Amino acid sequence: MTQIQFYLPTEVIFGRDCVQKAHEVFLRQGKTALIVTGTHSAKVNGALQDVEAVLQQNQQAYRIYDRVMPNPTVDCVYEGAAAAKEAGADFIIAIGGGSPMDAAKTMAWLAAQDIKREELFTRKVTAPVLPIICIPTTAGTGSEVTPYSVLTNDEKQTKMSVASPLLFPAVSLLDGKYMLGLSRTVTIHTALDALSHLLESALSRRASRWSRAVALEGLRMFAPYFKTLDTAEWTAEDRDKLLEASMLGGIAIAQTSTTAVHMLGYALTYFHHIDHGRANALTLGAYMKLVEARQPQEAKEVLTALEVQDAAELTAILARLLGEKEVIMPEQAERYAQEAVGNPKCQSGIIPLSLEDVRQIYAEAFGL
Ligand SMILES: [Zn+2]
Repeated sequence: MTQIQFYLPTEVIFGRDCVQKAHEVFLRQGKTALIVTGTHSAKVNGALQDVEAVLQQNQQAYRIYDRVMPNPTVDCVYEGAAAAKEAGADFIIAIGGGSPMDAAKTMAWLAAQDIKREELFTRKVTAPVLPIICIPTTAGTGSEVTPYSVLTNDEKQTKMSVASPLLFPAVSLLDGKYMLGLSRTVTIHTALDALSHLLESALSRRASRWSRAVALEGLRMFAPYFKTLDTAEWTAEDRDKLLEASMLGGIAIAQTSTTAVHMLGYALTYFHHIDHGRANALTLGAYMKLVEARQPQEAKEVLTALEVQDAAELTAILARLLGEKEVIMPEQAERYAQEAVGNPKCQSGIIPLSLEDVRQIYAEAFGL
């Protein structure tokens, strides 16, 4: 019998006002928190206020580090870790989208130990790591249930992960009400990130029947919203459903990791500043056409869960949601293809990609 592993040490609490009700959850993490967030959104969506109120009622001390930028850098995580040390923080609270949550995970490691910069992406993460509470304020990243901290590595000119089972958040608190004010663009791009996670994980070589069950359920939950992402009026209940689908995507990639679509997107984000979810969605249709051609049954199963006919329909919906595409020059695409194809992510899907495949995906995605 083949061995199957499934590891999810994060306690997930999902529901309306779950942050305000989580006094005991915060109390059991420690005495002093570093709150890690971006410059703006956590303050306007109410999540930061809710967290501060609970900490104050609990008489827990805290400091706020609110300088996490999109696609956080190595400098950022060291700066946040220094703030945590200075404050004497013994736990970390991340509020925001993927960037604050991903940055917070590495900060939780760096705040507990002195790790040299040159070892950041190569050294195995060992204990101690400060406990982390995650409060997502977008629905897409799934970072609240993954062991990955994706950072921008300027030395390698791409995004790289610090990954370890020790980086799973201790607790995640999910409430769709924090997403009510999100713009249409952010809603679409983050939702398409979740869609990439679900599809890539379901079609990963590393998928087990359990992780696949999670991914397929996420696709089914996502299906009623997919075609109307650009026109819908979102209620808090809709936001909850999208957040739940996104969280299932996170649980799935926590088991399988992401695959080629994420790898092909990293260059688009690094060199063209294309938002992460959008970068994935730009190549997702072309990738699914290749999967459909080579593994028709597997493609059919995931597309059926998503309630679309075939990869062509998926591509058409994505094209409509994405609007006008960025311009990528053929020589740029060639360079990104050569860089990407050597990465294990390009080989970890059920269809391993050759250089020619990657060229074809970029060419189709950008009309080259
Ligand atoms: Zn992603």
